[in-house]
Amino acid sequence: MKRILFFMALFSSFVACKDNRQAQQTPEIENFEYMVDKFYDLQILRYRVPGFESLTPQQKELLYYLTEAALEGRDILYDQNCKYNLCIRRTLEAIYENYPGDKSSEDFLNLEKYLKRVWFSNGIHHHYSGDKFIPDFSASFFADAVRSIDAGLLPLQDGETADDLIAKLTPVMFDPAVLAKRTNQAPDVDLIVTSANNYYEGVTQAEAEAFYNNMKDLTDETPVSYGLNSKLVKENGVLVEKTYKVGGLYTEALERVVGWLEKAAAVAENDKQKEVIETLIAFNKTGDLEKFDEYCIKWVYDVDSRIDFVNGFTETYGDPLGMKASWESLVNFKNLEATERTVKISSNAQWFEDHSPVAPEFKKTDVKGVTAKVITAAILGGDCYPATPIGINLPNSNWIRHDHGSKSVTIENITEAYAQAALGNGFAEEFMWSDTEIARHNKYGYLTDNLHTDLHECLGHGSGKLLPGVDGDALKAYGATIEEARADLFGLYYVADPKLLELGLVPDMEAYKAQYYDYMMNGAMTQLVRIEKGKTIEESHMRNRQLIAQWCLEKGAADKVMELRKRDGKTYLVVNDYEKLRTLFGQLLAEIQRIKSTGDFEAAKQLVETYAVQVNPELHEEVLARYAELHLAPYSGFVNPVYEPVVKDGKIVDVLIDYSEGYVEQHLRYSKDYSVLPTF
Ligand code: ZN
Repeated sequence: MKRILFFMALFSSFVACKDNRQAQQTPEIENFEYMVDKFYDLQILRYRVPGFESLTPQQKELLYYLTEAALEGRDILYDQNCKYNLCIRRTLEAIYENYPGDKSSEDFLNLEKYLKRVWFSNGIHHHYSGDKFIPDFSASFFADAVRSIDAGLLPLQDGETADDLIAKLTPVMFDPAVLAKRTNQAPDVDLIVTSANNYYEGVTQAEAEAFYNNMKDLTDETPVSYGLNSKLVKENGVLVEKTYKVGGLYTEALERVVGWLEKAAAVAENDKQKEVIETLIAFNKTGDLEKFDEYCIKWVYDVDSRIDFVNGFTETYGDPLGMKASWESLVNFKNLEATERTVKISSNAQWFEDHSPVAPEFKKTDVKGVTAKVITAAILGGDCYPATPIGINLPNSNWIRHDHGSKSVTIENITEAYAQAALGNGFAEEFMWSDTEIARHNKYGYLTDNLHTDLHECLGHGSGKLLPGVDGDALKAYGATIEEARADLFGLYYVADPKLLELGLVPDMEAYKAQYYDYMMNGAMTQLVRIEKGKTIEESHMRNRQLIAQWCLEKGAADKVMELRKRDGKTYLVVNDYEKLRTLFGQLLAEIQRIKSTGDFEAAKQLVETYAVQVNPELHEEVLARYAELHLAPYSGFVNPVYEPVVKDGKIVDVLIDYSEGYVEQHLRYSKDYSVLPTF
């Protein structure tokens, strides 16, 4: 997994994948406003950067330069997403700031809302679905508004008039059929011609595929990432790559990125990190993809630096052919306390393996835990802004991952912001049985959810072994669900173990109940809000959660371990006996490990088909209706903090952090200070 997304900013277990770190609550925060804005299906949040003040002045200076480098790439992404995006954004911003008419009129407010969404999506297509969104104001209002402001403020091309601009942009903004989809994935069409993004121009899919197939050497064991940093165009009938580099495409922005990176290299924490930055600079200057691989390898080995970053053409989700990368940046520093937690767990990996409820023949005699780094984001840029992943695993090149490994990080201050914003949104109150569960959730939910994720990641996936001769793919389509269930159960079993108290990872033996309740409630009912009416569960993490919940509900029924109970026509999960629930988790873990170790396909099929796939239609409808009443925005994005260097005698001696900037102010400022690309 390259990129881990948070799907709904509501509640701990509402994530696409358990390969996520989730947050609930940290008690020490006061008067920090997490919620900034809300429009359409989006909410804008603010995140804190805890620990920033404890960095050394040099680390802060380094971080400051990297955050500037992160902001300079913003326009690149707009242009990559669609070639009209910069023109539309600049036109709308000019109207927004200079409109002489009534700024409280419905049309103008709709224009503001649309502009906010353009900022959110880095263009005119929905950030998640990729569908073009249509303004709620009319084309005639748009035309009047453009004409109402000084033409000198508009992004006009040579010889162009305001009316030309209106004629150019009107179909792009208002006609649903024009540039309808940013990245088309539909079968049986030319994916390049039908995609609105700007990675190819005047080129068909067949031509692009032939161009790159011709370039690839299949015997090469260390192939570069072909096409990663270029636009493919046809010039005089010939296909050519326009490389993104200093002196090439996007040079105006990349020169500034490089300028900040050069300053960063001069104050690097150590030689290894300095080399990483210098190699990235060399890549930006040459566009040479072998340099890029060299940079990636050096980056993987830089594990000691406190500060780390991603900056450049990274993920290829936007290209229907999966080759060309969008520009993104994330600057961060290691969360020492949280990383300590994963180290504690990993270094006791053998103890956990030896004491698990799994049959001895399926256990590893020599188990190694995985240490994942927990980080604090300092700035989000490009394709990580305003919507951001909550975890990243890079680099993407398969051979580099195989030969040199990868870095896996989870961004805890972002998940903390999600969780804080979710507090008091009514979700827990609507779905939890009583104040006891809500109080426990508020007190321990954040902690135990993180711990469960750590146990899942650092131990669960790496535990157990296959018997000799068993094919790792024996469970076929059921393999992923069984594997996730195995890792989740390992975490659930151990989150209630006194060993965690001994290691100082939980404050008492009450904490685990929060995770047990949250997990079971989600698996048994509330995760259904993500399934459309009439559909079954497809996604393997969701299947795994329902499998565990339904199996335990059934097996624990006779002893009344837990049940689904009705009150005032609403269904709730009630857990009566947490200790017995743990025993059930242990039993299911033992069985799932047996299935995995022996490659028992029939048993895997039986478990998944019985418990994981089908949805109770009445419960589903009820949950959807209760959820709809809460009016929650399914997608979230962020505003960044502002970093202000303190300069003395021409040298940066400190950097101050400020959280007060709003969503609109931030984008208008970015559009002034970090916007050097030509409109087309
Ligand atoms: Zn997993």
